[in-house]
Amino acid sequence: MIRRIAVFALAALVAAPLARADDRAPAKIGVLAFRGGEDALKRWSPTADYLSAAIPSARFEVAPLEPEELNAAVEKGALGFVLTNTGNYVDLEARHGISRIVTLRTPSGSVFGAVIFTRADRADVKTLEDLKGKSFMAVQPEGFGGLQMAWRELKAHGLDPFKDFKTLKFSGFPQDNIAFAVLKGEVDAGTFRTETLETMAAEGKIRLRDFRVLNPRSHPGFPFLVSTRLYPEWPFAKLKNTPPELAQAVALALLQMPENAPAARAGGYRGWTVPLDYTPVHELYRELRLGPYAELGEITVADLAKQYGHWIAAVILVLIVFGLWLLRTEQLVARRTRELSRANDELERAAAERHRAEAEARERRAELAHVHRLNTMGEMASGFAHELNQPLAAVVNYARGAVRRLKQNAVEPGELLAVLEQVAAQAERAAAIVRRIRAFIRKEEPRHVALDFNKIVRETAGLMTAEAEREGARLIFALANPLPRVHADAVQLEQVIVNLVRNAIEAMAEASSPVREITLRTMPAAEGAVEIAVEDTGPGLPQIGRERLLEPFFTTKTGGLGLGLSISQSIVEAHGGRLTAAPRPGGGAVFRFTLPIAGEARHDAA
Ligand code: ADP
Repeated sequence: MIRRIAVFALAALVAAPLARADDRAPAKIGVLAFRGGEDALKRWSPTADYLSAAIPSARFEVAPLEPEELNAAVEKGALGFVLTNTGNYVDLEARHGISRIVTLRTPSGSVFGAVIFTRADRADVKTLEDLKGKSFMAVQPEGFGGLQMAWRELKAHGLDPFKDFKTLKFSGFPQDNIAFAVLKGEVDAGTFRTETLETMAAEGKIRLRDFRVLNPRSHPGFPFLVSTRLYPEWPFAKLKNTPPELAQAVALALLQMPENAPAARAGGYRGWTVPLDYTPVHELYRELRLGPYAELGEITVADLAKQYGHWIAAVILVLIVFGLWLLRTEQLVARRTRELSRANDELERAAAERHRAEAEARERRAELAHVHRLNTMGEMASGFAHELNQPLAAVVNYARGAVRRLKQNAVEPGELLAVLEQVAAQAERAAAIVRRIRAFIRKEEPRHVALDFNKIVRETAGLMTAEAEREGARLIFALANPLPRVHADAVQLEQVIVNLVRNAIEAMAEASSPVREITLRTMPAAEGAVEIAVEDTGPGLPQIGRERLLEPFFTTKTGGLGLGLSISQSIVEAHGGRLTAAPRPGGGAVFRFTLPIAGEARHDAA
């Protein structure tokens, strides 16, 4: 089609000057060739000739063009005038500033509309609303009279022709086919421009009574069946740069064209009238968002790309880079999280393992300490027997004395009372010793409480007195007073003291030291601790490293276990203190250890 039009256009442009050898300035009239170039030339060339004859300064030529070609030619300014349908004119007016100089007058006037119709016997189609879900036929999708005028009315009744019809077909030209399709029942309804039905009826092709007009309207002075508002006919327009004098001359010539001029007859019209108001057409396009208003309120991606292409590209690039970076970061974070959680599991396992091992070690240590205490007590049994002997002997003596006096009847009640009190006191002393021994050998969980250290030292040493005396050793107390309470387990503390005192006794006995003194010294020490020192006048420490001395199973004694010092050390350390051994100035050895003061936070090491 385009090629055919182009050929005709070319023929028109080339042939005219050759034929007439007219050397006047050419004035091109771009004509919308909606029925093909041939038809356009046939219809409008006489009008061009009329103008050429009427205006001496210019030679008018018709250029039949398809809508896109017409648009391009106007954009380029390649035409002087444009002759096109109402819809297309408004589009070009809005886009390229062409302006109408006159409006076409047809035999029926200068305005027209569209008629929407169905077959008269269709009882189910009486209103536009009834068309929902029905089949419909129009001339062309872009046709002004061929669809758009009807579309505006359909829209006003809530129907979108492209969505709400069962089918929407287009007949093209001749538009008469729509009337036939409706009659045959091929479609339920159709639309075309006004006057077509009446023309067909006049030509005997149809009978008007076979049709029902939907949404019928009446407009004063308008004689045809119509369903829509009315719009002005085709305008004759000038381009923005067309010389005003030429435009004026053309307008005048066209307005003066007689009704029956050959040009009017060839074009099927009745001359021209003053330019009409095309505002209703703009309104239609605005409502339907078509033509110049297609982009109204919706900015297309293509528009954006055209206007901000490089910015969009840059932003997209940045987004892509950012996205990739984000992705990578997320991956790294995920991997790191996995690693960390693995490491964490590992740590938790290790910590649990350590706790378990520590608990086990603590248990074993307590077990060992208990066994050692039992052993120690066993070794000290004769000492205890001796210790117990004293109060028991005293009890026996007091009791016997009392019995003797009673038998002699020489007893004063007051005297007897004093004797019995002595008996009770001595028995109490024996009981206390037994209690201490039992407590010492009992197997109990360590209980850390605030203790009077001096008291513990004195009572523990009490257990040793008998043994010390047997070996000719003397216990000397040098206890600082007052002394802060310590935070410790009493039995464990006693065990350490017993170990150190026994070691001192044994060392002095073994070496047959001439002076046998054991000094138990308590004193406040630095950093919230108290210290106890057990000094002896024995042979001094064996000539080996002090660490060896504290090792388990190191002993220099026949029958020694070598556990006393190592157990003592672990007890002291579990209390947050330290056990040290040193030579005593002037001979002998000093064993010292520290303990945290009660209330200090170091007990948690136990
Ligand atoms: P045991 O008493 O069973 O030998 P200990 O661990 O109590 O085990 O003592 C380890 C060794 O330390 C002793 O065999 C002894 O050689 C030395 N020792 C401990 N106390 C003294 C002390 N007061 N004077 C000299 N040597 C000591």
